[in-house]
Amino acid sequence: ETSSKLLDGKLIAKKIRDEIAGEIDGIKESTGIVPGLAVILVGSRKDSQTYVRNKKKACEDVGIASYEANLPEDCSEEEVIKHISKFNSNPSVHGILVQLPLPRHMNEEKILNAVSIEKDVDGFHPLNIGRLAMQGREPLFVPCTPKGCMELLHRYGIEIKGKRAVVIGRSNIVGMPAALLLQRANATVTMVHSYTKNPEEITKQADIVISATGVANLVRGSWLKPGAVVVDVGINPVDDTGSARGYRLVGDVCFEEACKVASAITPVPGGVGPMTIAMLLSNTLSSAKRLHELK
Ligand code: NDP
Repeated sequence: ETSSKLLDGKLIAKKIRDEIAGEIDGIKESTGIVPGLAVILVGSRKDSQTYVRNKKKACEDVGIASYEANLPEDCSEEEVIKHISKFNSNPSVHGILVQLPLPRHMNEEKILNAVSIEKDVDGFHPLNIGRLAMQGREPLFVPCTPKGCMELLHRYGIEIKGKRAVVIGRSNIVGMPAALLLQRANATVTMVHSYTKNPEEITKQADIVISATGVANLVRGSWLKPGAVVVDVGINPVDDTGSARGYRLVGDVCFEEACKVASAITPVPGGVGPMTIAMLLSNTLSSAKRLHELK
């Protein structure tokens, strides 16, 4: 029985964070500049609070200063935009991130539009996404999760050019930009979503599968072509009476089955999750370098 190679996002992310920390040390020493990331959190969703806390901690560890605006659930759109504008004009802030999802009464498009494209480290500003989609244009930032998927493939030397890729899920933050990135890397890309008639048959043609649906165990071993490379973005809680919290996290891909078919696969947790945070730090550092015209 064969077993896939593990694409160890935790390990690679650690390496990347060390590289970033080293570079930031050098910049501080030679220029006194400290890269800064501002995070805006609206409301009190537990999961969002956890993500924000993890991002802050990751910043501290590499020497990025973090700035925070915590706003109540019932605050106005204008209030959020006021905070964004302040960060836009604060020269110590090089990256601005609005933690999603926003409360339902808010217009996400309007709020994301308010972030300066020069500080849009999440890469969610429509101008950055538009440039990502266009030939011969370069976005200032690429969304962190799909960028992390690509970086992981890159660091493991997995070739993308000319390969067939299937992306399952088409959200603005993961699936759609992942498909654009694969296409930019010269893969032939097919998108699978909730209206796709024969997802198994389509996915089985792929050399590279990126899944981001939020459906636990959607992708079975039978969906995969032997030797396929599988990147599992999903983070899904499933009941687990054996664990202290009463649940555990699994991906979109049935790991035990996929292991027997795929040539390489990301674990959940420890795959794409840590890569996402590493890319946020990387985007913040490159923003600081660009804004200060450093090499
Ligand atoms: P969304 O809910 O925004 O999008 C889910 C997508 O999956 C939609 O496009 C939907 O299709 C598609 N989909 C849902 N069910 C099926 C199905 N049965 N078959 C095929 N396609 C389906 O989720 P996100 O993109 O925000 O997140 C996806 C997953 O990734 C979640 O588990 C999330 O927790 C995780 N995630 C992980 C991150 C990380 O750092 N590792 C970062 C961000 C997210 P349709 O468009 O037709 O509705």
